[in-house]
Amino acid sequence: MADLELRGLCKTFGQVLAVDNLNVTAADGEFVTLLGPSGCGKSTTLNLIAGLEQPTAGDIYLGGTRITDLPPNERGIGMVFQDYALYPHMSVFDNIAFSLKLRRVVRSEIERMVGYVSQMLDIAHLLERRTAQLSGGQQQRVAVARALAKQPQIFLFDEPLSNLDAALRVRMRTEIRRLHLHLQTTSVFVTHDQEEAMTISDRIAVMRDGRLEQLDSPMEIYRRPRSIFVATFIGKPGMNVFQGQLQADEDGITFASPGLELCWKSRQEARLESSWSGEAIIGVRAEDAKLQDPGATVPEEGAFIAEVTLVEPIGSDSFVEVTRDSQRLLARVNPERQFQRGQMVQVEVPAAKLHIFDSGTDLRING
Ligand code: ATP
Repeated sequence: MADLELRGLCKTFGQVLAVDNLNVTAADGEFVTLLGPSGCGKSTTLNLIAGLEQPTAGDIYLGGTRITDLPPNERGIGMVFQDYALYPHMSVFDNIAFSLKLRRVVRSEIERMVGYVSQMLDIAHLLERRTAQLSGGQQQRVAVARALAKQPQIFLFDEPLSNLDAALRVRMRTEIRRLHLHLQTTSVFVTHDQEEAMTISDRIAVMRDGRLEQLDSPMEIYRRPRSIFVATFIGKPGMNVFQGQLQADEDGITFASPGLELCWKSRQEARLESSWSGEAIIGVRAEDAKLQDPGATVPEEGAFIAEVTLVEPIGSDSFVEVTRDSQRLLARVNPERQFQRGQMVQVEVPAAKLHIFDSGTDLRING
């Protein structure tokens, strides 16, 4: 069993609090991604797990054993770095075999293992080449193969795809996912790319300023972001948000912000468990905002009139930006539908699709 547990992990560099009381777990065989903007402490956290940095406070457990004070080579980790960290003048074979030789594994076993992992990563034909002679994508595969050959208890990936071009990046993330499904080795993956995190992970730990914002499955994070930060960070585009005054009671919900007034009949439908009133942020995803053709019957709730200010076709969908006073909303629509700049449309925000956050705490208040 190689379940990972970070308990109250802290790391300061001088005045900078890089990791702030982090509690994250990865179950045995789980693929957990640390996701967040630049500087939020993802790499520092990974380096703490690897033993490349020492925590200021807190503990790390792997398979129930406290590894906080163990040197990196005794932790049973296989790490893949952003810049691959290969030995450029060694052959692919020797790069993959390096840690096995250090451990004095017998030659025949090294050959078997290198053969096995190089087949798995489709680089068996490159074993004699020097890594300096390989493309970025091939170097990336060698780096994963080298980590794999160690048969680690846990894989740590530090932005391993960020030096690849867009197409190769998408292909490699699928391969890493497939490899994981095959091997079922506990993995921690660092990225600032939310789409990459969504597609590759069992669970995502969203980080901000060294702290954990939310740890959940990708869909739960998308559907029920716990804070306004997660709501706007996750999703392409991020969630549409409006700040204003919200009043929710037995008569329903009213929301007022400059130039925009909305009401819904039932707070239960918006999954608001009790009455609430105050400064709030409401959010709606682009695919949940409905654009009605002009002249359609005005819905009784959650609707407003706005002007189409931008139309962006992306093939499978179109994004239509609508503006009401200075408030903007992006809606995702079927590309067959025609919208023109300057056209007036009705925008409907269904109660069931509403996300409501307390402006004071930035935290979600509906279910
Ligand atoms: P990125 O995506 O840009 O790599 P990150 O989320 O991985 O960012 P970290 O590299 O972990 O973030 O850095 C977290 C904070 O700690 C940042 O403010 C960074 O400047 C600081 N930091 C990281 N390493 C050191 C160091 N060795 N000395 C001083 N400050 C550091």
